[in-house]
Amino acid sequence: MWRGRPRPRNAGTIQHSRRLLFLSPMPRSLTPELRRAVSERLRFYNELGIYDFYRRDVPGAEIAAVADRQDRDNQPESGDEMSPRKSAAVAKPVAVEESVFQVIVQRPEQGVGDPAKALKMIREDLGDCTRCALHKQGRKQIVFGVGNPNAELLFVGEGPGADEDEQGEPFVGRSGQLLTNMIKAMGLTREQVYIANIVKCRPPANRAPEREESETCSPFLMRQIAAIKPKVVVALGATAAKNLLAMSAPMTALRGRFYDFKPTGVRSPDWVGCKLAVTYHPAFLLRDPRQKGEAWKDLQMVMRELGLKAPKATS
Ligand code: SF4
Repeated sequence: MWRGRPRPRNAGTIQHSRRLLFLSPMPRSLTPELRRAVSERLRFYNELGIYDFYRRDVPGAEIAAVADRQDRDNQPESGDEMSPRKSAAVAKPVAVEESVFQVIVQRPEQGVGDPAKALKMIREDLGDCTRCALHKQGRKQIVFGVGNPNAELLFVGEGPGADEDEQGEPFVGRSGQLLTNMIKAMGLTREQVYIANIVKCRPPANRAPEREESETCSPFLMRQIAAIKPKVVVALGATAAKNLLAMSAPMTALRGRFYDFKPTGVRSPDWVGCKLAVTYHPAFLLRDPRQKGEAWKDLQMVMRELGLKAPKATS
């Protein structure tokens, strides 16, 4: 399990897709140096909770351009016999077949049919996580997620607040009470849905999670969603929407429609994905109760998708 091992050289920031691209058709051979570098990168992503990768078809010309660039980089510099570039240039190529893909390990929960068991395995894989800076910024505990592992409806918020950090459960403070009421208005109970956040540790002073924190933590959320396979995910607030949809837009533009959603970086061949809707975060609704009517419209759209009828008292 990853406990803060330094990133491999040139690892860079993980892109939103959180998947590693391989160019296809793959070059016939890799140098030992390149193979080592790719293996190291794959292990790094595995330790972040990312296990699934895909290949993207690209035109042959692009492949040729990459190969040309590599050739140029591997040219020895004149008068520098000991140059590392020189040694790379003469390294014997290694066949792809004996190669890097052996290091891609299965997600622990892969193929586990029982969502409760899969969630337990994801929690165990997360461990006493120190993968991002939030582990040392005053968190009391990791807030993994709560609810029905077989839920058809899954809510995703931004991150735990003080009450959630204290109790180890998402949405238990004032915002949580409002979310519970919203769920009841839909004719459901908290126990029937699943609730989680983009990040699992409390950001200090209730600030929004930073990009690196979200990108480091959210692969675990993606795995939770893939384990539960809900029919609808509701993103609560702009931060959750932005992270799940990989797009930045005002709430007015994001709301009022469904998006097709499948968790990034997680392959679930037996699941086509689900719908995703965006509504206001309950904390925002507490600050501006005039928007509750708009949020109710969003929830009614979700209810129609799930075939739910509001209880008489709230309709
Ligand atoms: Fe780990 Fe997520 Fe907590 Fe960061 S926020 S330390 S990635 S559990």
